[in-house]
Amino acid sequence: MPQVTEKLEFQTEVNQLLQLIIHSLYSHREIFLRELVSNASDALDKFKYLNLAEEPYKSLAFVPRIDLELEEDKGTLTVSDSGIGMNHDELVGHLGTIARSGTKNFLASLSGDSKRDSNLIGQFGVGFYSAFMVADKVEVVSRKAAEDTAWKWTSDGKSGFEIEPAERATAGTTVRLFFNEEGKEYANSYKLREIVKKYSNHIAFPIFLTADKEEWNAEEKRSISKRTTEQINSASAMWQRPKAELSDEDYKELYKTISGDWEDPLFWFHTKAEGTLEYTTLFYVPSRAPMDMYHADYQPGVKLFVKRVFITDDAKELMPGYLRFLRGIIDSEDLPLNVSREILQQNKILNSIRTASVKKVLSELKTIATDKPEEYLKFIEQFNRPLKEGLHGDFANRETLLDLIRVKSTKAEGWTSLSQVKSGMQEGQKAIYYITGGAAGVLRTSPLLEIYRKKGIEVIVLDDDIDEIVFSGIYKYQDIDLKAVNKTSASDDLKDESAPDKTEELKPLIEKIKIALGSAVKDVRASVRLADSPSCIVLDEDEPSIKMQQMMRAMGQKQFPDIKPTLEINPDHEIVKKLEGVTDDAVIQDTSWLLLEQAMLIEGLTLEDPGRFVQRLNRVLSRAV
Ligand code: ADP
Repeated sequence: MPQVTEKLEFQTEVNQLLQLIIHSLYSHREIFLRELVSNASDALDKFKYLNLAEEPYKSLAFVPRIDLELEEDKGTLTVSDSGIGMNHDELVGHLGTIARSGTKNFLASLSGDSKRDSNLIGQFGVGFYSAFMVADKVEVVSRKAAEDTAWKWTSDGKSGFEIEPAERATAGTTVRLFFNEEGKEYANSYKLREIVKKYSNHIAFPIFLTADKEEWNAEEKRSISKRTTEQINSASAMWQRPKAELSDEDYKELYKTISGDWEDPLFWFHTKAEGTLEYTTLFYVPSRAPMDMYHADYQPGVKLFVKRVFITDDAKELMPGYLRFLRGIIDSEDLPLNVSREILQQNKILNSIRTASVKKVLSELKTIATDKPEEYLKFIEQFNRPLKEGLHGDFANRETLLDLIRVKSTKAEGWTSLSQVKSGMQEGQKAIYYITGGAAGVLRTSPLLEIYRKKGIEVIVLDDDIDEIVFSGIYKYQDIDLKAVNKTSASDDLKDESAPDKTEELKPLIEKIKIALGSAVKDVRASVRLADSPSCIVLDEDEPSIKMQQMMRAMGQKQFPDIKPTLEINPDHEIVKKLEGVTDDAVIQDTSWLLLEQAMLIEGLTLEDPGRFVQRLNRVLSRAV
């Protein structure tokens, strides 16, 4: 080993990288500390592992810690760790070349367009070299574990670096920064504390800060500057600890720190994945829906960490939108530290983590639904609706989501599930039926439900404003067809084969009604679904309900097609029977319209011309009185 100072050049790519970092990350200079602390933490992780497993490391003392020491007057900061350290060749190799092929490929792909390139820089860890954003000189003194000699690496980040023998009492690495003009603002213990809290609070090792601290001296009645050393991170990546070691209180406390919620969470799911991808997730379900859940610019609640280093809490792509109420943490071992926004969107690793996490969360919810139905209902009260949004958007998990949502029905009190509705099906029942398009109270009195009531068939009552859109795209629950009762075809299932077909008999009347109503209806037919009411309106498959059409137009969608309903009349109803014998055209005219208008009103719809409705009603009343 050479005993004198060696002068060495940086590899070309290092120069390139240094230029790029200095010119593109100037608005994020503070990350230098995150990078150095994270290197220190990696070095501690490595030593910790060897210390457990292998000689000669096994017999070495190991007190893991990271020390920041600020010397305000000199404008220097040291970041020291008691980690694995680097020997001469490693210092040259790691801090003078770029070994990782990913970074090399990245550099090779640079276009020279500084704006585009700076967007790309987030794709890989900028690492150690980011120190040169804030320092015009960096010294690294390192001693490899189980070796006797220490080495000092020095560089100004421009003209290469020097290596010379040095002294260090124990194994580890000390990086000393001599702050430059831009770095001066970091020669401030409050600032350093703040950055460590922000990015490295959950690094698993303690981080100490030694700096001058103003303390009030009561005797001298003035504050005196005192050199103090304090731990400035919480040092517990709690989610990295085994579940068995954690109490409910631990989980609740972490929830409150990361979410800002003062109430306890409803549930949490803690998972450690090992295999092709290594990551830990800890998801919480709050006990109350977040205030901004229905705002387009909601604040996402899942934080991304890479190797326990905080990366972002503002990435909506970490979770699908419908699970935006989740709070928690994803901590990946495989992502680069500087993963950028662009990368988050299309990163394969993150995609796999997200897919697996969604599956996990949904399956945990399913378990709770089975094992603790009462707890589960608390969840439903808050989050049934976002789950239904998932039905609309998350095709891959539709089956599970159908099992997770809860619905109202004509038979159940409170909530029921599709699986319960399925198991309550009648002998020979061909489908599961539902009604949408209004408040539950209105839906429950709809004439469309009469036949089902008569036959004892349970109908699902969907009263959320998104239900029609969501359920119009879902045709099956497991192997059973799902059908809206307001669709023409739903009645085909209900025909009583033994009952005489009244269609022929009613034909002359139907023709008269069709003429009376003209283009206000698509068709008029004899109904098989009515018991007590004289009429109802239905639509063809895939046609939006009248309610939906009215809503879309009210929302300004003027072009929304004007699809007319089909009027169904009840052949057994007294009014219909009497009408068959009427010859007075004026009476047929009024009655036909009233049959259509009452069918609309009972569905909670507004009439196009209420004035004419009232006139008709009054004519009929005056005849009757
Ligand atoms: P990265 O950490 O992303 O690999 P860096 O440029 O930050 O990239 O560091 C390059 C290498 O230098 C690291 O992979 C590690 O081997 C070594 N290194 C950096 N800092 C330390 C340290 N504090 N202790 C031991 N090795 C270190």
